[in-house]
Amino acid sequence: MKNIIILGAGVIGVTSAYFLRKRGFSVTVIDKDVKAGQGTSYGNGAQLSYSKTFPFSNPSTMRKLPQYLFGANSPVHFYPVYDMAFFRWAAEFVGQSTTKKSVANNEKVVKLALQSREALREVLSETSFNFDLQQNGKLYTYSSKEEYEKAKAFIAAQNDYGFNWQQLTVDEAIAKEPALSARRDELVGVSYCPIDESGDCEKFTRELASVCEAEGVKFLYNTTVDDFVVQNGRITAVVAGAQRYEADEFVIAAGIGSAALAKKLGDYLPVYPMKGYSITAPIKDNAPKISITDEARRIVYSTIGDRLRVAGIAEFSGFNYDIRRPIMIKLIDDASSSMPDSADWTQVEEWTGLRPMTPSTVPIIGRSKRVGNLSYNVGQGMLGWTLACGSAKRLAQAL
Ligand SMILES: Cc1cc2nc3c(=O)[nH]c(=O)nc-3n(C[C@H](O)[C@H](O)[C@H](O)COP(=O)(O)OP(=O)(O)OC[C@H]3O[C@@H](n4cnc5c(N)ncnc54)[C@H](O)[C@@H]3O)c2cc1C
Repeated sequence: MKNIIILGAGVIGVTSAYFLRKRGFSVTVIDKDVKAGQGTSYGNGAQLSYSKTFPFSNPSTMRKLPQYLFGANSPVHFYPVYDMAFFRWAAEFVGQSTTKKSVANNEKVVKLALQSREALREVLSETSFNFDLQQNGKLYTYSSKEEYEKAKAFIAAQNDYGFNWQQLTVDEAIAKEPALSARRDELVGVSYCPIDESGDCEKFTRELASVCEAEGVKFLYNTTVDDFVVQNGRITAVVAGAQRYEADEFVIAAGIGSAALAKKLGDYLPVYPMKGYSITAPIKDNAPKISITDEARRIVYSTIGDRLRVAGIAEFSGFNYDIRRPIMIKLIDDASSSMPDSADWTQVEEWTGLRPMTPSTVPIIGRSKRVGNLSYNVGQGMLGWTLACGSAKRLAQAL
């Protein structure tokens, strides 16, 4: 049996472990944290958003750049980072933002998303653990006629992939999801995608790690990988402090830590952090039963068990996790005014995480071109929870 070491026990590393174990590898997962799922996978928006894959790098983002840079209520924030890696990444992002490229990139991500939905079904049929999965679709709300009309065109195109999106009037949407009632006067239209889902990504990752452990996968926590031993173009071991861990094959699935690890091996990974914010509060009676994306404010809502998760914001400020008070306060204000009776907004758990973004939104899955026995499963960006099972299955099929 071939030995494989996976670096990273986020949702991407743990799903990789699951599918590689099934493929017959003897798997070890190494993570610097105390348990699985404590990085970006911890506090995300919880949406399994198969239907909304359109890349962030697209002509509309380019058109809105001045508004993003200087607008008062922008969901995108830039703080000067004099980092060559950022400038290189940003130049590639601009290059990927043409209509032709964004449509082609969307197609790649849609296919991966649909494969992910199937692969999650496979996991569900083989395991039995709770991660507060809700299988009742997702609502997208619009507060501007212009955005709604644009969304209709996007939905028509996306429906070619079989998503079966539906347009709802505001009354129909509120009848379907009463948590939207406080926004009745503001909304101009709502779309509904029945195949989307939501669930607690951190719980899923931790529980799946336990399943893997029971199947013989080894997890080494509190272990930071800082280097590699390479001989004749192949890795023989990873180095973590004074320890060396040997294997036949290696996978980097270390989220936002992946580019630094790849650099040690002479590989360039175009993966850069885009910070997001989330809050989690205990639910009240009018908590949403269906996950919601507020397209005007660019924030998402998902009920996970007895908690409501609200997430959003795209902040470029390098590798830092600081909570900027004005941004967090606006997120709490937006959520509490939009859904006053859905959660106890006086008891909010605040969090930030770094999305591992590629310029094209397309993740990097498969073998390194430079190092013989190295593979990557990185760069799932804004959609890592959604794309995890499909990415892992693809990786396992490639090895
Ligand atoms: C605010 C916000 C909302 C989001 N909402 C959604 C959503 O609704 N739906 C969706 O699909 N996606 C969402 N995402 C994106 C999703 O959370 C990420 O794409 C996904 O969690 C990335 O998983 P990962 O395993 O690659 O990274 P991580 O979860 O960060 O895991 C990487 C692991 O590698 C470990 N590591 C790194 N470097 C080293 C090293 N040198 N040695 C040892 N270990 C190392 C880390 O400790 C970490 O545990 C959101 C993200 C944010 C920030």
